[in-house]
Amino acid sequence: MTPFYFRCPDCGTRNRIPADKVGKSAKCGKCSAVMDTNELRIQAPVTVMDKDFSRLILKSPLPVLLDCWAPWCGPCQILGPVLTELAAAWQGKIRICKLNVDQNPETAARFHVRSVPTLLIFDKGQLQDSMAGALPKHQIMRKMAAYL
Ligand SMILES: [Zn+2]
Repeated sequence: MTPFYFRCPDCGTRNRIPADKVGKSAKCGKCSAVMDTNELRIQAPVTVMDKDFSRLILKSPLPVLLDCWAPWCGPCQILGPVLTELAAAWQGKIRICKLNVDQNPETAARFHVRSVPTLLIFDKGQLQDSMAGALPKHQIMRKMAAYL
């Protein structure tokens, strides 16, 4: 089984977590902060709001693919199930999050989201890249290969 890599939410150090230690309590090798490795078990997209954006995205233990979407948007409905599949496939590797832009205008404005769907990629607490439109699954996978 391949190990997982968990970024410490306190100091940002990437810690190696053997697969058989997932779900057990772990300490960051650098700053000794306690890390909740249950996060590596999440297999479904995580809903993010303006108020928990920093905690769930910027301090995420994993690289994040954030789907900025709206309920009235047709292409967003097509992309949704694709991201649900990818969240299961990338369990413990990439965190997939969803942000409703109508309910969370602050984050949408901060990252200049002008159309939906827009996919934003975050790693190391920063925006790394973005993709606009309901792209096919293989194109999303190709882009995310660098973060796996
Ligand atoms: Zn640390």
